Amino acid sequence: KGGEMGSLGAAEKPHAVCMPYPAQGHITPMLNVAKLLHARGFDVTFVNTEYNHARLVRTRGAAAVASIPGFRFATIPDGLPPSDDDDVTQDIPSLCRSTKETCLGPFRRLLAQLNDPATGHPPVTCIVSDVVMGFSMDAAKELGLPYVQLWTASSISYLGYRHYRLLMERGLAPLKDVSQLTKGYLDTPVEDVPGLRNMRIRDFPSFILTTNPEEYMIGYVIEETERCKGASAIIVNTFDDLEGEAVAAMEALGLPKVYTLGPLPLVAREDPPTPRSSIRLSLWKEQEECLQWLDGKEAGSVVYVNFGSITVMTNEQLVEFAWGLANSGRQFLWIIRRDLVKGDTAVLPPEFLAETAGRGLMASWCPQQEVLNHPAVGAFLTHSGWNSTLESLAGGVPVISWPFFADQQTNCRYQCNEWGVGMEINSNVKRDAVARLIAELMDGEKGKEMRRKAEEWREKAIRAAKPGGSSSRNFDELVRDVLLAKE
Ligand code: UDP
Repeated sequence: KGGEMGSLGAAEKPHAVCMPYPAQGHITPMLNVAKLLHARGFDVTFVNTEYNHARLVRTRGAAAVASIPGFRFATIPDGLPPSDDDDVTQDIPSLCRSTKETCLGPFRRLLAQLNDPATGHPPVTCIVSDVVMGFSMDAAKELGLPYVQLWTASSISYLGYRHYRLLMERGLAPLKDVSQLTKGYLDTPVEDVPGLRNMRIRDFPSFILTTNPEEYMIGYVIEETERCKGASAIIVNTFDDLEGEAVAAMEALGLPKVYTLGPLPLVAREDPPTPRSSIRLSLWKEQEECLQWLDGKEAGSVVYVNFGSITVMTNEQLVEFAWGLANSGRQFLWIIRRDLVKGDTAVLPPEFLAETAGRGLMASWCPQQEVLNHPAVGAFLTHSGWNSTLESLAGGVPVISWPFFADQQTNCRYQCNEWGVGMEINSNVKRDAVARLIAELMDGEKGKEMRRKAEEWREKAIRAAKPGGSSSRNFDELVRDVLLAKE
């Protein structure tokens, strides 16, 4: 036992329990943190929900979630009733409510099981939890363990949520009536928002842009983001050159020390690969043929289209994107998730399929990081989820952004207005706008400048992640000062 730690006995080995919120954009960054800890000699228990665990086994086979020495999986129920379709994105507000209200008991019992000496592994010495699984703080406190929270979105969006109170105090939101959604009201500038620049009402995380002051998600995100104050430390998947100002503003709101460890896919990358590298927690089956298809294409020639794991749209919107892509005349790789079209299966016009045959490839899920690092990809039509945003910066790929919900509005604002790598598409998407923005990005002067900027960010991201870089040094400090610290 404990062989990989040399002379240290199992009982002396640190043991981290890592628990993500059960959605793809949260699982992947937590897995990267777990891998970093394991590489540093920690025993790791990674906590999935039963629903996701079963899904992972189905899509990737039992081997994908099999233990390797010192790294094991555990499960807790998510508290949602069983669903008819066990292969779809779960409803986010329902999942937020059920995890918050039901998961503490099962999590406590899991910790007790893990601490049973009969298991043969060391007792739990620290907990790394998603910010939005904040119920776990109580369990950590009961056991007197260091408790670190991972914020998987941007620092700017964290501030956006924390400043909901400011919008409410100024009477700017929630909205007074639905006409405010359409009559330019959302473009109203919001001055003096600590840590944020050039914000308009529409750039705040979307939950507040509602006429319903009782909207569950408003109170939920305020409570969860304020609870962070009680953690031992906060990890953010970002890097100092990109968000240093926002990170300082987070700490100024009374948070414990914030450690920027991003982009996590770069920091956690292993070369050469280890048995750990083959753990991949993708909830959909990745279609590797997307990469082979890209292999044959000229550098920078392909538009990559993917709206992540949660976004849904109407079939009309899908058809506008389709004709926009067709009319752009460009080659494209378009990922259409099985449940991308709201309540229905995606139906594309046969004329579109005929016209784009040979230059468009459609698939249902791909290994996105590899795609964004492929030289053939010249532009990314994205929903601006935070992982996608960081992965595009790390790949040096400029974006066209169609933000859907939550933090994506804020990320889009910064991509377009502060970081110089993005152009936004109106939420009421039209085919002409899609084609025009693709042309501007692929051929225009603005596109050239955005590519230059994206390349600059790529270099900065690589610098932050490599040994001696800010994110890599922060990881060392987090381990030394928090995770291994004795009370
Ligand atoms: N992803 C992927 N293949 C796909 C679509 C998405 O691997 O076909 C990954 C993507 O690389 C990212 C995550 O899923 O790491 C999506 O997270 P993001 O924060 O961008 O958006 P969300 O899905 O949470 O809206």
